[in-house]
Amino acid sequence: MKRILLLILATLLLFSGCTLSEKEEKNNDKLTITATIFPQYDFLRSITEGADVELNLLVPPGKEIHGFETALSDVSAVSNCDLFVYVGSQDDAWVKDVPESGNKRLALCEIVTDYKDEHVWTSPKNAIVIVQKLCDNLCEIDPSNKELYKNNTEKYIEQLKNLDTEIESTVNKSENKTIIFAERFPLLNFAEDYKLNYYSAFEGCSTETEAGIKTINFLTEKIKEENIPAIFIIEFSDGVVAERISKETKTDILLFHSCHNVTQEEFESGETYISLMTKNLENLKTALLKNNTGD
Ligand SMILES: [Zn+2]
Repeated sequence: MKRILLLILATLLLFSGCTLSEKEEKNNDKLTITATIFPQYDFLRSITEGADVELNLLVPPGKEIHGFETALSDVSAVSNCDLFVYVGSQDDAWVKDVPESGNKRLALCEIVTDYKDEHVWTSPKNAIVIVQKLCDNLCEIDPSNKELYKNNTEKYIEQLKNLDTEIESTVNKSENKTIIFAERFPLLNFAEDYKLNYYSAFEGCSTETEAGIKTINFLTEKIKEENIPAIFIIEFSDGVVAERISKETKTDILLFHSCHNVTQEEFESGETYISLMTKNLENLKTALLKNNTGD
């Protein structure tokens, strides 16, 4: 029996291309980074591009991040990496209970001090601060790749700044400063940072999906009153409330991707925070500028 097992193991090793000890050694040498959710995973992917690091995403594509059940393997994932980046909200409060193991742990809600709710990444202004802090920490942990991290970060922050400038100029040009979400509203940081007025069917990431008649009437009146051409839904939405309001007000329904997570399809097609936010910007232009009288 033992001999058969050894034979199977030997065959497996032959096909895996390297011996177990070699592989272990390789993994130990490599800088390992674990991110709980997509936004910081994507930031870290850009900062470390070209460096031989292992980057893991804890909540897989397609999964709802709120209420994501923590497995035992997740607990060890916190300790068994060189850098662990989480949100620092109620959802991942469990991280604080994992005993310190000497590695570096960073929480987005601690990096961004002046935030409105836990969806800090939705504002590119916050993303700039977060990316710089992640880079600073990576340079400290892994000085051999310092120049690479710094160069990548400089280029990446330039893209974020361009995005920020374009959003600001869109809002400035627009006579309408109101966005309506027939939906949950995880975009408090975004709306406040770009000085937009906002109304939504549900607060934050409420688990409610059935809007009361009072809420629907209120949003419908707002749209008519302010001549708003489009309303928003977010990703993973059933769009039921939006359909009802759109029918009543003849408004378009547009997507605002809040980047909590991406679908498996989006992940495989290489969507990034920048690519999703750029699409958001285009939809924002439609919602804000369409009825501009000066155009
Ligand atoms: Zn949320």
